[in-house]
Amino acid sequence: MKIVIFLGAPGSGKGTIASRLSESDEKLRHVSSGDLLRDAVKRQTTAGVEAEGYMKRGELVPDAIIGQMIGDYVSGIKGECTVLLDGFPRTVAQAEILDGVAGHCGAELTAVVLLEVSDEIIVERIAGRRGCPKCGAGYHIRNIPSRVEGICDVCGTGLVVRKDDNPETVKNRLSVYKEQTVPLIEFYGSRGLVRRIDGAGRIDDIVRMTRQALS
Ligand code: AMP
Repeated sequence: MKIVIFLGAPGSGKGTIASRLSESDEKLRHVSSGDLLRDAVKRQTTAGVEAEGYMKRGELVPDAIIGQMIGDYVSGIKGECTVLLDGFPRTVAQAEILDGVAGHCGAELTAVVLLEVSDEIIVERIAGRRGCPKCGAGYHIRNIPSRVEGICDVCGTGLVVRKDDNPETVKNRLSVYKEQTVPLIEFYGSRGLVRRIDGAGRIDDIVRMTRQALS
């Protein structure tokens, strides 16, 4: 198994790009730490109940909780594939947990895709973000509109704004990213793994540049 990490601020497009890549290649598996956590909250598992408050405030969930979830998920994957890890790790401690998980599963960390986007664009993107609460499909009112406004193309459910996409929480998530996640650029840069991608343009172009960077 290979692992590619997607790094970038909230709203930088990690989930969109990783899911576009995995849709067109069955060997690529998109795993989003945010989706795993939202699912745990929805099901009110022990980890979900503990994580909920941190997520509402835009803070990071404790490393041990998310580390365990990702470890369980990755070690359960069977067969040859490349895991696109979106949103994990977000701290140096999590990166060390991932090294342990990779060692345990015989997986190789092959690249870290860093999506670079200005704060202005991030705020605009998050303000327009919509999601399907049923199937998880993601939209943006301008950049990725659904065919019928407010309705999921895939399953016809009404689209919603994520609870933590309000302006106050977004501000907090951005400062958490700068303080706790940006140090990972140096951490993985020193291993020669970081591939910087301009995440500001059209989605098709970003997908193409990312594919090139990983080939
Ligand atoms: P995301 O969908 O990646 O924007 O994540 C939504 C929220 O889930 C974050 O604001 C955090 O509260 C939590 N979260 C997701 N991934 C992690 C992680 N690797 N470490 C800690 N908290 C996380």
